[in-house]
Amino acid sequence: DDLSNKIAAGEVVERPASVIKELLENSIDAGSKRIKIELEEAGLRSIKVVDDGEGIAPDDTERAFFRHATSKILDEYELFRVKTLGFRGEALASIAAVSQLTLRTSTGEEAGTEIVVHGGEIKEKQASTKRRGTEILVENLFFNTPARLKYLKTIHTELGHITDIINRMAMSHPTIRFECVHNGKRMFLTPGDGELLHVIQQIYGRSVAQNMYKLSEDSLDYNVEGYISKPELTRANRNYISLIVNGRFIKNPVINRAILDGYHTFLPIGRYPLVVLQIEMDPYLVDVNVHPAKTEVRFSKEKELFNIIKDAVYQLLHGQRL
Ligand code: ADP
Ligand code: MG
Repeated sequence: DDLSNKIAAGEVVERPASVIKELLENSIDAGSKRIKIELEEAGLRSIKVVDDGEGIAPDDTERAFFRHATSKILDEYELFRVKTLGFRGEALASIAAVSQLTLRTSTGEEAGTEIVVHGGEIKEKQASTKRRGTEILVENLFFNTPARLKYLKTIHTELGHITDIINRMAMSHPTIRFECVHNGKRMFLTPGDGELLHVIQQIYGRSVAQNMYKLSEDSLDYNVEGYISKPELTRANRNYISLIVNGRFIKNPVINRAILDGYHTFLPIGRYPLVVLQIEMDPYLVDVNVHPAKTEVRFSKEKELFNIIKDAVYQLLHGQRL
């Protein structure tokens, strides 16, 4: 019903940045190569995400708004081998429950569909263009949940959260071209050429990108690739460590510790390096299901992973093995 719908929505959709996160994850899961985000007033007025992914077939468009409708997981076995970013089938239903949403989508094979949903209620459905991909416009977020609306912070703060999300998505997917336009002004663009260093340059600037060591390490269970800053580039806080596991941005204190230990004496007290690591492993070795926000994960061979990363970082900085 309406109330339980709104309550569930509140768990997924906290602020404009959480809408953007969910929409981007869906675009990525759909195999998009180009994703454009257009925002007005830090997403408080409107959020539009346009992708060139596989689209949704006409018969499936309404179902995409049902709670727990996901096309991504078939059974319990798959739940433990999650490769897609989404798998709960809650995001679209939740966003649609607390906004005025327009979806245009096509698989590119036949006429597409346009659906308008206001506060979870389907208002219109009609045929749309055949261009392959999906466009979702979210307007007047939280128009029907005044308490949530009141809790939102300034444009500046909301934009900060949005920037974090877009940075994370771009770092996790260097092969995708991300563009973000805010109030008509472009604020973010990655080339989508597969080079992580080009994404780092967009986020942190050219001089940072030019002062990184490239890390590349293989073991039986893990492949670790990425960039770590030279000692002179150490910054003041831990937010400059970005970890990506199987294309998913994560937080993990054990890996953070391994990186810091690897820097050893090269790290002034209270400073942090700037690091972006992409770690690939059998999905079976990582539990992404421990936290609903899905950034905390648990590794089943944690000690092995710790040692690989610590040793690789140490070797890059010290020129020799531990
Ligand atoms: P989940 O991602 O957990 O499956 P969502 O509520 O985010 O659930 O999306 C519901 C369904 O809508 C997805 O499983 C997918 O089939 C479809 N969908 C949503 N966004 C897109 C998109 N940009 N491109 C293609 N399909 C999409
Ligand atoms: Mg999703």
